[in-house]
Amino acid sequence: MQNPRILQWRMNITPAAKSALAWTHTARFLTTASHLDQLPVHELPEIAFVGRSNAGKSTAINMLAQHKRLAFASKTPGRTQHINLFALGPKDAPDAYFADLPGYGYAAVERAAKLRWQQVMADYLAVRRSLSGVVLMVDPRIGLTDLDRQLLAWVAPRVGTGEVRLLVLLTKADKLSRKQADAAVQAATVALADLSTDDADIGVLLFSALDKRGVEDAAMALRAWVTGARVALQALAGLTPPRTDP
Ligand code: GDP
Repeated sequence: MQNPRILQWRMNITPAAKSALAWTHTARFLTTASHLDQLPVHELPEIAFVGRSNAGKSTAINMLAQHKRLAFASKTPGRTQHINLFALGPKDAPDAYFADLPGYGYAAVERAAKLRWQQVMADYLAVRRSLSGVVLMVDPRIGLTDLDRQLLAWVAPRVGTGEVRLLVLLTKADKLSRKQADAAVQAATVALADLSTDDADIGVLLFSALDKRGVEDAAMALRAWVTGARVALQALAGLTPPRTDP
């Protein structure tokens, strides 16, 4: 017997979602850098993927790219941390880049490595000129950690002016009941309220690589960032996003 849920999902995919997914599927590895000055300087929008280790960042990138191992999590705490860049768009004319930033929060990482990571992240978020958007992966069963908040503080001035957009993906949503999902969205919305200004573009989205929840919406949000459009994302009907357009 066919599964009506999957069938319905396939039939309901809108042309906009299809085109956004076709675009995220073009993601391919470009280069890796261990220092900011090794990153190529370019004029295209760059979208950074950030999150604490195990939040589901590699899985989300791979899901968006439809690639099994484009991004991969290092399970070796303290290894040299790198920023991986992926190009998107036509092969001969890329139109955007994804930057996969090192996961953070390994308890076992020695202090010097943590401080070095913090400096790289702080510099990248504060000064990387091409940075147009940040996708923060948060495990909703843990919520925003102190390190997540620290990271947001580094990029907050640029989020406030609208120069850098922010999308918070509440990952592994398949593990939550409807009630827990509602509570997770509410908690994230409250935690992000401080970043909200008239010019900020901030979204919260339930995301699951397992049941594909939020994948289309995330792809559409990122596509809209690159084309300069503004999207107000709402994770669940009835909940107010951190900021609404007038
Ligand atoms: P990273 O360290 O942030 O890159 O995290 P990973 O992408 O490696 O994911 C960490 C763990 O969470 C892995 O065991 C994944 O299989 C699991 N995971 C990631 N996304 C999901 C999801 O949507 N649903 C479920 N149930 N597990 C997930």
